[in-house]
Amino acid sequence: MNENEIIADVIIIGGGPAGLSAALWCCELGMKTILFEKETEFGGQLLSIYNPIKNYIGVETGNGRELRDLFLKSVENRDFLRRLEADVAEINVTNKTAVLRSGEIFTYKALIVATGVRRRKLGVYGEEELQGRGIIDSGSKYREKAAGKTVVIVGGGDAAIENALILSEYAAKVYVVHRRNSFRARDEFLQQARQHPRIELLTNAEPGKFTGAQTLESVEIKDLQTGEVKMLPADIALIRIGVEPNTEMLRSQLDLDPNGYIMINAHCETNIMGIYAIGDAANPKSPTISTAAGTAAVAAKSAFNWTTQNKPV
Ligand SMILES: Cc1cc2nc3c(=O)[nH]c(=O)nc-3n(C[C@H](O)[C@H](O)[C@H](O)COP(=O)(O)OP(=O)(O)OC[C@H]3O[C@@H](n4cnc5c(N)ncnc54)[C@H](O)[C@@H]3O)c2cc1C
Repeated sequence: MNENEIIADVIIIGGGPAGLSAALWCCELGMKTILFEKETEFGGQLLSIYNPIKNYIGVETGNGRELRDLFLKSVENRDFLRRLEADVAEINVTNKTAVLRSGEIFTYKALIVATGVRRRKLGVYGEEELQGRGIIDSGSKYREKAAGKTVVIVGGGDAAIENALILSEYAAKVYVVHRRNSFRARDEFLQQARQHPRIELLTNAEPGKFTGAQTLESVEIKDLQTGEVKMLPADIALIRIGVEPNTEMLRSQLDLDPNGYIMINAHCETNIMGIYAIGDAANPKSPTISTAAGTAAVAAKSAFNWTTQNKPV
């Protein structure tokens, strides 16, 4: 399909596992398909998985990028228009158009939203400035680089505690800072962390700012019970306080739950006929690659029914 045919049967927003799987299925069903991804490469969160992936049936890979490459191989000979650095800024459900940040307008018969989630930020001083200069994005990736260093991890769920365990293999000291008085992480992780001689769990505590001249030097921690503020010397920090859906541009268009996730039925239909949502952006209880791929197939079938017979499933 070439770019002059701007009326697509299906436009897919987001080129992670859900969007790529949807593109495969839409082609399989013979629909004219366009896939938009705002980043410079396809893959979504797969690109930030540095551990082996062992829970996607039929294949085991050393990391997320390897699985992404297999996904790309599956679609390489499929005839659909794929665009990188194509940030969908707006959709108009009345005109059935998707507008890119560049201003280009594309018309669809059906729309599949696969925009995924992003990591939540603390929004405190130094968090942006020291990104990549002490504030890291993955425990696995920096496991060995943490040798002899002091690490501060912010968060209280599985991701925070699992990363504490990973980084404590080499680090001299790992603090886990959590604003509540109990952790949400699974018992298995917590037990290991509590028994670890180099991990210290700080509850009712919150980071106020990250400071350092060239790289991170310390994290200001506030005790939420006493109000006391202290500076914790640190070389590395990792923030794991959950995720939020990439659904801002849909806020006034589609029904979202109170956390911003797109509400769908069993056919992946949203409240607007012909618009479907898949993967993490619509499945907060099951944010997995399998769900992304599975819901993609469901949405593609629903979209096929809609575009060929103008009726829902
Ligand atoms: C560290 C880590 C480890 C994980 N381990 C596993 C595991 O072992 N097993 C497992 O099943 N799952 C795992 N997951 C979760 C899994 O990666 C996600 O469930 C999956 O990636 C969701 O796919 P998705 O396509 O819905 O969303 P994403 O992967 O989030 O992709 C969404 C894509 O949409 C793009 N996008 C967003 N907004 C726009 C826009 N406006 N215009 C254009 N493009 C847009 C984004 O740039 C992104 O590329 C892990 C995740 C992480 C972060």
